Amino acid sequence: MSSASTYHPDLLAPFLPYVWIDGDNGLRAKSRTIPHKVTDVSQLPHWDFDGSSTNQAPGNDSDISLRPVAFYKDPFRGGDNILVLATTYNSDGTPNKTNFRHHAQKTMELAKDAAPWFGLEQEYTLFGLDDRPFGWPKGGFPGPQGPYYCGTGAGRVVARDLIEAHYRACLYAGVRISGINAEVMPSQWEFQVGPCEGISMGDELWVARYLLIRVAEQWGVKVSFHPKPLSGDWNGAGCHTNYSTKQMREPGGIQAIHTAIAKLSKRHDEHIAVYGDDNDLRLTGRHETGHISNFSSGVADRGASIRVPRHVAEKGYGYLEDRRPASNIDPYRVTDIIVETTILDK
Ligand code: ADP
Ligand code: MN
Ligand code: MN
Ligand code: MN
Repeated sequence: MSSASTYHPDLLAPFLPYVWIDGDNGLRAKSRTIPHKVTDVSQLPHWDFDGSSTNQAPGNDSDISLRPVAFYKDPFRGGDNILVLATTYNSDGTPNKTNFRHHAQKTMELAKDAAPWFGLEQEYTLFGLDDRPFGWPKGGFPGPQGPYYCGTGAGRVVARDLIEAHYRACLYAGVRISGINAEVMPSQWEFQVGPCEGISMGDELWVARYLLIRVAEQWGVKVSFHPKPLSGDWNGAGCHTNYSTKQMREPGGIQAIHTAIAKLSKRHDEHIAVYGDDNDLRLTGRHETGHISNFSSGVADRGASIRVPRHVAEKGYGYLEDRRPASNIDPYRVTDIIVETTILDK
């Protein structure tokens, strides 16, 4: 009675959200049923959506195509259900103006012999539906920063249940989340993803963000990736980008780390241009940042643009940390330019 392409409840029919980056650096998703189990990305059909509703196309030429690039286990539905990460292309086949993966993938292909690894530290802030920081006292402010970073206990951290649900969702999905911690400002948290090689870093960070926003939705909580969500004496939010090549990870690699830092120092402005909007509000030289208009580097220096972790300097190999990227970066752009500058000598 039922063919392989007709839906029937007895049939294995995974329910798939296609997730994509929209015209405002946010995430959208719409779902469909695929009447077979998916084992390879090539089995996933292209799809499309109305780009005029997502700030990605004009109304008179609004069909934007979704091309699947990766899939992950769906932690919300389990079983054979998956979630699909898709990239956006215009009707003439060119990448959409918001599709920075297209170029990044070419860069990563050219640089693959150097085996670039990244580890991103995604900071973010939780807000209630009333647009006040989640869990802050009604009609007032929490006490000054100090007890909140990696805090323990009521009054010091908020929403740990939400944060741990997100952590579990990432682990289930197969996203390489490597840790979480509460941040310096109350209601601000961080998760780390990585190390991931090449283009997969951008993919995994975007999916981790999607899972966070989706989990928080169930709590009625909003996630802000703004780099300075509250003005005043409150820390901003960044997306520190840890980076290494094969050469840097081998004994004696500190030399390659210093060479990369010298190259980065010559393209500070080009990097800042793609390190997130409103980053000038965060990179003030205060609150553990280096000033946006100066490039600097140092061992264990959290006020520098580039920090070489103490343990890396002592061992003589490892990775560097670029502290400049803001929390609202597109990770495809950041990983792309770091590889262009340090490996492809742009
Ligand atoms: P911080 O002390 O700056 O808060 P974290 O522990 O939050 O550091 O993050 C360090 C990050 O460095 C982790 O996300 C990890 O994945 C990443 N990392 C570790 N080794 C490497 C490496 N060789 N190359 C790139 N990233 C790395
Ligand atoms: Mn960190
Ligand atoms: Mn942090
Ligand atoms: Mn860091």
